[in-house]
Amino acid sequence: MAIMVLQSFRPVLDTIAEEIANLDGRGRPADYIPALAAGDPRHFGMAVADLDGTVYGVGEWQRPFSTQSVTKVYTLALALAHEGEILWEHVGREPSGNPFNSLVQLEYENGIPRNPFINAGALVVTDRLHRLTGDASGALRDFLRAESGNDGLDFDRDVAASETAHGDRNAALAHFMASYDNITTPVPTLLREYFRQCSIEASCADLAVATGFLARHGIRADGTRLLTRSQAKQVNAVMLTCGTYDAAGDFAYRVGLPGKSGVGGAIIAVVPGRCTLCVWSPGLDARGNSVAGVAALDRFTTITGLSVF
Ligand code: GLU
Repeated sequence: MAIMVLQSFRPVLDTIAEEIANLDGRGRPADYIPALAAGDPRHFGMAVADLDGTVYGVGEWQRPFSTQSVTKVYTLALALAHEGEILWEHVGREPSGNPFNSLVQLEYENGIPRNPFINAGALVVTDRLHRLTGDASGALRDFLRAESGNDGLDFDRDVAASETAHGDRNAALAHFMASYDNITTPVPTLLREYFRQCSIEASCADLAVATGFLARHGIRADGTRLLTRSQAKQVNAVMLTCGTYDAAGDFAYRVGLPGKSGVGGAIIAVVPGRCTLCVWSPGLDARGNSVAGVAALDRFTTITGLSVF
């Protein structure tokens, strides 16, 4: 198949939006967080950002949504930037083979979570970032504002409150890891930080642009370096192997890009050295990935030939 020479991503996005409009079976919104349960699977937005931050979008690409676990990528990058290799003494980098909020492996593995993108691993990363900065959620919000250029980007206090009210499983994970000394922030403080982090509202445009540092091999929007080239490779690699819950194999097969999904229905993806993407549609499959989101990214890499393989 001929690979397209792209002058602009706009025609590709238009084609994908037309195809997605005809997609049957779009999954269901996450209902274990009541504030997300009303999400309508018919919503769809997609944005692609060039390395220079030029962004192309289709559908509801400027509409804010709950970013949820997509934020785990940025806290990982910030913690790695602050403390480097030490982070990996506290969290692994292997796929878990279990649901994102599972407790079962933690006892066998002495309180060290398999990877930074399951909830246990993300709690550890937020703990590290909070120790290092004194304000993990604030550091994340400032970073996303700076990288996206959107100063209005903020937490959604209703979503954070909804998660706090239904946060027993995350609390259990945090307490359990604290018993292994792998969490040192007081658990109530850590949960507040983690739920704020998950509640950040942003659009496809915001996240496509804010993820640019991973396509620029660690270079931030202002030209300064956040991650070494090697660390940017590491984050992309963990996204590829662990970023889409217990379906990372199927996502790699269909899309062929490092990606990270969230239960709000967003997925970010990176074409290193070329561009970054964000797609959003709240209907999830049984594993927690946006049905229309995966389909759209599948079509993007198939039509354009842009993939890491
Ligand atoms: N805030 C959600 C939780 O902790 C994030 C889950 C997700 O998006 O994967 O359950």
